[in-house]
Amino acid sequence: MDKQTHSFQAEVKQILHLVTHSLYSNKEIFLRELVSNASDACDKLRFEALDHPQYLEDQPQLEVRVSFDPEARTVTISDTGIGLSAEEAIAHLGTIAKSGTREFMAKLEGDQKKDANLIGQFGVGFYSGFIVADRITVESRRAGLPADQGVRWSSEGTGDFEVETITKPGRGTDVILHLREGEEEFLKTWRLKSTISKYSDHISLPILMRKEEWDAEKAEQIVKDEWEPVNKASALWTRSKSDITQAEYDSFYQQISYDTEAPLAFTHNRVEGRSEYTQLLYIPAKAPFDLWNRDKRGGVKLYVKRVFIMDDAEALMPVYLRFVKGVIDSADLPLNVSRELLQESRDVKAIREGSTKRVLSMLESLANSEEVSEKDKYARFWADFGQVLKEGVGEDHQNQERLVKLLRFASTQADEGVSFADYVSRMKDGQEAIYYITADSLSAAKNSPQLEIFRKKGIEVLLLTERVDEWMLSHLYEFEGKSLQSVAKGSVDLGSLQDEEEKKKAEEAAEQFKPMLERLKAALEGRAKDVRVTTRLVDSPACVVTEEGDISGHLARMLKQAGQ
Ligand code: ADP
Ligand code: MG
Repeated sequence: MDKQTHSFQAEVKQILHLVTHSLYSNKEIFLRELVSNASDACDKLRFEALDHPQYLEDQPQLEVRVSFDPEARTVTISDTGIGLSAEEAIAHLGTIAKSGTREFMAKLEGDQKKDANLIGQFGVGFYSGFIVADRITVESRRAGLPADQGVRWSSEGTGDFEVETITKPGRGTDVILHLREGEEEFLKTWRLKSTISKYSDHISLPILMRKEEWDAEKAEQIVKDEWEPVNKASALWTRSKSDITQAEYDSFYQQISYDTEAPLAFTHNRVEGRSEYTQLLYIPAKAPFDLWNRDKRGGVKLYVKRVFIMDDAEALMPVYLRFVKGVIDSADLPLNVSRELLQESRDVKAIREGSTKRVLSMLESLANSEEVSEKDKYARFWADFGQVLKEGVGEDHQNQERLVKLLRFASTQADEGVSFADYVSRMKDGQEAIYYITADSLSAAKNSPQLEIFRKKGIEVLLLTERVDEWMLSHLYEFEGKSLQSVAKGSVDLGSLQDEEEKKKAEEAAEQFKPMLERLKAALEGRAKDVRVTTRLVDSPACVVTEEGDISGHLARMLKQAGQ
């Protein structure tokens, strides 16, 4: 075939225009897109070669090579994948096949405001090469076709492209970017290398670049003719569980988390159903220094078929699980879609929900394990991350019931590790409520006079001493039908736990002390709402309580401290 000129489909022209004008601040993504295409092409060949082993020719190695030529000002991405026939090059590199992309374009063309950010984050695959190149040449030969049926496709990324037949001995595709003026930064090994490891480290094929060595005599880097892999190519999560050792799981965790310790626990699953994805999620052994930064991103990374897409923590995990690290790899999300659209996507939401549930199951199995070592792990987890998990009680109503069972407290009977279930199992006959007290510290809680009557009657009281507790309790009213009651609020109704005689005595005392109560009320005018005779004290003469429904004394002190 002699050289032919074809016109791009109208949508392609628009995309090209958008890409070259709006994606500039994110220009390095062209490498991610082209490497990902190369990797896809290798995957396709691997699949087709199952039926047609001859497609592998004398080059069974599936790999990607990235090279550059400073003189010619080109960057080339080559693969030994499936390649393109001339017809395919015309069809796939001149039109947009995906309906999603059309919808996206329709949106951009519609009334909606043309959000530069939206465009800026719109991954556009092959065409993103034109961000840095003013001409792209693709030389390709489809697997199974003879050497003289190769194709050269070439375009300046404006209105049209040229296609001609060439002879190409090696199967697969070379994408040659002729860099625009000013894009010389991509003619450097380190720039290409660091971009590849940023976006494509987990591509499971080797991505090779020429070795570089320092030449002391010439005092410069010399590019050698030897190739070396620049990605780790690990993609551990794609392998089957039974083939992965604990040591491999641990070292992968350390690679993605920069943690020096092994993780506390992990979960690795392939989820099938409406949306298919793999999740490999870890719980660290220790809280990171920035655990309290709720805006932090990046714990969980989203990949689509081993290509890194985003690490927007909140889209993938609720904030209260921000300590989780790991990878989610979707088999069916589109690669060419903006971050915003991904966040909105029902598939991403399903992934987030599924992953949240996974993490909760992982915690439940530690917490409920019969094995001491596992239970011990949960205790360690709770010590470091318990306060963060409590945020979930208020934030995640869907999972509140499960979260509540994971909570652990100190109580008047144990300094730590008391669950609501433990508490309920120790409730006295006739006890209807779960009692708690909030305070600044464990000793302040333990020594509170409000506890006297509970001690005397042997009723357990939960001692809540963390800042988040008050907030959490404003979202939690009961556990399995037992209401939560502060011992420092209102009149403390002990219900049937109080015998008739005690009640009678209290009523008599109230009568007897009426004049004194009146005098106290007058004396404390404006400072106390009411003065009452109480049955809650045993040894102390008096204590301060807050009205049911008012903020507690502890919260009032906290707010005061915070200057409110
Ligand atoms: P996507 O990868 O999402 O399909 P792209 O714009 O990145 O969209 O690529 C468009 C099409 O061009 C691909 O679907 C594929 O058919 C073809 N293509 C691109 N790069 C290669 C390559 N290296 N080898 C074979 N085909 C390719
Ligand atoms: Mg692509």
